[in-house]
Amino acid sequence: MAEQFDVVVIGAGPAGYHAAIRAAQLGLKTACIDAALGKDGKPALGGTCLRVGCIPSKALLDSSRQYWNMGHIFDQHGISFNDAKIDVNKMVGRKDAIVKQFTGGIAQLFKANKVATYYGFGQLKAGNLVTVKQHDGSEVELKGTNVIIAAGSDSIELPFAKFDGKHIVDNVGALDFTEVPKRLAVIGAGVIGLELGSVWKRLGSEVVILEALPEFLAAADAEVAKVAAKEFKKQGLDIRLNAKVSKTEIKGEEVIVTYTDAEGEKTLTVDKLLVAVGRRAATKGLLADGTGVQVNERGQIVVDDHCHTGVDGVWAVGDCVRGPMLAHKGFEEGIAVAELIAGLPGHVNFDTIPWVIYTEPELAWVGKTEAQLKAEGIPYKAGSFPFAANGRAVAMVEPAGFVKVLAHAETDRVLGMHLVGANVSELVHEGVLTMEFSGSSDDLARICHAHPSLSEAVHDAAMAVTKRAIHKAN
Ligand SMILES: Cc1cc2nc3c(=O)[nH]c(=O)nc-3n(C[C@H](O)[C@H](O)[C@H](O)COP(=O)(O)OP(=O)(O)OC[C@H]3O[C@@H](n4cnc5c(N)ncnc54)[C@H](O)[C@@H]3O)c2cc1C
Repeated sequence: MAEQFDVVVIGAGPAGYHAAIRAAQLGLKTACIDAALGKDGKPALGGTCLRVGCIPSKALLDSSRQYWNMGHIFDQHGISFNDAKIDVNKMVGRKDAIVKQFTGGIAQLFKANKVATYYGFGQLKAGNLVTVKQHDGSEVELKGTNVIIAAGSDSIELPFAKFDGKHIVDNVGALDFTEVPKRLAVIGAGVIGLELGSVWKRLGSEVVILEALPEFLAAADAEVAKVAAKEFKKQGLDIRLNAKVSKTEIKGEEVIVTYTDAEGEKTLTVDKLLVAVGRRAATKGLLADGTGVQVNERGQIVVDDHCHTGVDGVWAVGDCVRGPMLAHKGFEEGIAVAELIAGLPGHVNFDTIPWVIYTEPELAWVGKTEAQLKAEGIPYKAGSFPFAANGRAVAMVEPAGFVKVLAHAETDRVLGMHLVGANVSELVHEGVLTMEFSGSSDDLARICHAHPSLSEAVHDAAMAVTKRAIHKAN
């Protein structure tokens, strides 16, 4: 006999654990199922984000940044030292401890909120039944008045570059190298390729990033992408555009990568190859026959604007549905669905989801780019301000980059904010808040910002929209 719940959530990643905790907060009897195991072979909640994504990558980005700064920035502060060394195992150990703290934290939050936790693989059957194959081999059946699918995503594997976990890896392997690879190739100059490429570059790898597209960071504002490309080049990241990989071969301890660019076929010999060409919804084995839940050609579960699958009581959220594959997009969808189930007005505003790339400098944006506004025929005015003219940024030896505010030419309503520079992962939220409250560039320009702070660059950029920036010629 299946145990009955108000809500059964499949997957305890960002989307699933937010859905489960919010549902439980709202008084719904909730269960959450997750199949993942941590590095120690024990169940680990928190999904890709906490185990092998957002958090561990930021831990390594921070460690490698400290190391890079020792060799490249400290001298400007008058600090010198002898013989800087990196202990990769200690660095990775610190990352693992952070992962353990946060994955364990989700288990504690589930306990505190009385979310019944099942460790194993869940499969949805017709009639909102979910079978859980637990790690000990036993099987339990749950029935949910509502089922929320939050199965997340897996790395895409290329047929000519199969992961072997040692020489050819995805993000999981690249977060766990035991030493700095002398030569690292990365396929894909997207967020994951750039972030993990940066980690190992800063620690001393020769990093070549091969990108099939002709344009660098096509989704970002063109000026932001240009500054980023220039800064990455200065750091020694070798980014080759229009480079289509067709073959890889592992020979001894080396990987030979064959690719074609405008000049013809070339080969590259490296010690490790990271394949970072995107992620695919993790729907394999998830749906038994007859559930009625539709899956599209990309493997994503088909949902409407409110994450409903069209099958009574069945919802889907996070990376396994349409929209950006971002943890915070999943957070918001999970919360919105739990609230809708409880009869509240849950909603996610896709127009104000921020994007961040945690490289050095960081890139961040919200809303439309200039190219999008032009393509859509929306009249706009732009104001920008360089960090090179911001006192705090210069004091921090972080003069690269700028903030750009885009506002409607007639109403002045902020339509987008694009940033590249230090800590812009935090600053972008000024744009998110302004847009969420339908604010104008004038609203932002009239808000008092602390001096000296990086956020003054946002203030100045907003003032520059109407040509009244104080700290630069308009
Ligand atoms: C290297 C890397 C860095 C990233 N950095 C960032 C970042 O800085 N910021 C950001 O916003 N995003 C980042 N992301 C993306 C982010 O990790 C994902 O968008 C996010 O984890 C998606 O959340 P989710 O809950 O939809 O799925 P997931 O996090 O993938 O979680 C799904 C969970 O469901 C479980 N599961 C799947 N199927 C079943 C089943 N049938 N039964 C039981 N359990 C199941 C899985 O084991 C997993 O634990 C990064 C990703 C990577 C790989």
